[in-house]
Amino acid sequence: MSYKNFPMVPRVIFGRGSFNQLNDILAPKRQSINAPFIYLVDDVFKNTTWLTSRISLSYDDKIIFVSTKEEPKTTQVDELVEDIILKTKARPSGIIGIGGGSVLDLAKAVSIMITNEGESKDYQGWDLVKNPAIYHVGIPTISGTGAEVSRTTVLTGPEKKLGINSDFTPFDQVVLDSELTKDVPKDQWFYTGMDCYIHCIESLNGSYLNAFSKSYGEKALDLCKEIFLDDNIGPSNIEAQENLMMASWHGGMSIAYSQVGVAHAMSYGLSYLLGTKHGIGNCIVFDHLEEFYPEGVALFKEMKALHGIELPQSICAQLTDEEFEIMINVALGLEPLWENAVGKNWKKIITRDKLKALYQKM
Ligand code: NAD
Ligand code: ZN
Repeated sequence: MSYKNFPMVPRVIFGRGSFNQLNDILAPKRQSINAPFIYLVDDVFKNTTWLTSRISLSYDDKIIFVSTKEEPKTTQVDELVEDIILKTKARPSGIIGIGGGSVLDLAKAVSIMITNEGESKDYQGWDLVKNPAIYHVGIPTISGTGAEVSRTTVLTGPEKKLGINSDFTPFDQVVLDSELTKDVPKDQWFYTGMDCYIHCIESLNGSYLNAFSKSYGEKALDLCKEIFLDDNIGPSNIEAQENLMMASWHGGMSIAYSQVGVAHAMSYGLSYLLGTKHGIGNCIVFDHLEEFYPEGVALFKEMKALHGIELPQSICAQLTDEEFEIMINVALGLEPLWENAVGKNWKKIITRDKLKALYQKM
C-alpha cells in the first residue's frame, strides 16, 4: 500500500478585512519592476469600487476582469496566458484570482501554463504538469467549492471536462475575508453552498472514507447544517459568511483525501452537454439521488424548501438519444467517483440504462 503525499496551501490569512493586507503580503514576492502582478477578477466587481480600490497597482501590474457566465475553458486559459506573455516585459511575479470557483480555477490554471509549454488541454488529468507554477494567490468571494484549498483546477476542454490535478496546482497563499462574500445573491449562495454540502455527503458516504477525510467532512457538514437549516440565516448574515467560508475549506480538505460521488459525476455530464454550472447542476442532480444518499437528500430537500429555492425542472426533457449518450459517457468516464460512491463492483450497478433513467427525471 502506498499513500498519497499531498501538498497543502502553505499560507492562509483569515479574518474580516484581511483583504486590506493583500498589498503587504504581495510586496516581498515582487521579482522585479518589470515582473507585474496580474489580478484576475470576476467582472461582477467591475464597478465595485470598495473592492477594486483596495488593490494597489504598481509598475506594470494589471487587473483583468473575467466573465463567469460560462465556466473556465482550456481555450480561455490559453488565450489569457498568451495575452499575459505578450504584454509583459518579464515573467509575472504572480497571479491573483479574486472571485468564485471559476476565477480561482482560472488563476491556478494560468499560473501553471505560464511555466509549462503547449496547451492547457494537454494537462487535464493527474500529475501531467512538469514545472512548478508561478506564485499564485486565491481570494474567494463566494464560499462552497473548496477550490481555494484543492489540488485541482477544473477546465472544460475540447474532449472533456477534467481538472489539472497536480502538486503545483494549490495556491501559495489564500486570503479568507468573509466580507468579500457579503453581496452574493441568495440563489447563488445556496447553489455554491450546496456544492460544499454535497462534497460532505459524497465524501462521508464513500468507500474511500478515512479518518482524515471524515474529520474534515464532519466539521464541514455540521457548519452547513447550522447555516442552511435555519431560515433566519441568509447570505448577509456575517457569522454565516465566516462559517460557510470555513465549511468550504473543510469540505475541500475532506475530498482531497477521498473523492466526490454520484452527484458530481452526473453533474459533469450536464455541464459538458448543456453548460449547466457546477453549483446548480449538482443541486439538480442531487435532488434525484435518494437511492444513493437517502438522509443527505432528505435534508437537502428540507434546506431547499426552507430557503424557497426552486430548481429548474425538465432540463433533459428535449434531449435526443445521442445527447443522453454524450452525458452518460462523460459521467461514466469519472471512474474514481463511481468507485467511491458505489464500491469496486460499481460497473454492475451503474449501467447506461440506469443513468439514462436518472437523467430523464431531471
Ligand atoms: P462562480 O465562480 O461561477 O460564481 C457564481 C456566480 O456568483 C457568478 O455569477 C459570479 O459573478 C457571482 N459572484 C461571485 N462572488 C460574488 C460576490 N461576492 N457578489 C456577487 N456575486 C458574486 O461559482 P462557484 O460556484 O464559486 O464556482 C463554480 C466553479 O468552480 C465551476 O467552474 C467548478 O468547476 C469549479 N469548482 C472547482 C473546484 C476545485 O476544486 N478546483 C471544486 C468545485 C467546483
Ligand atoms: Zn463540487
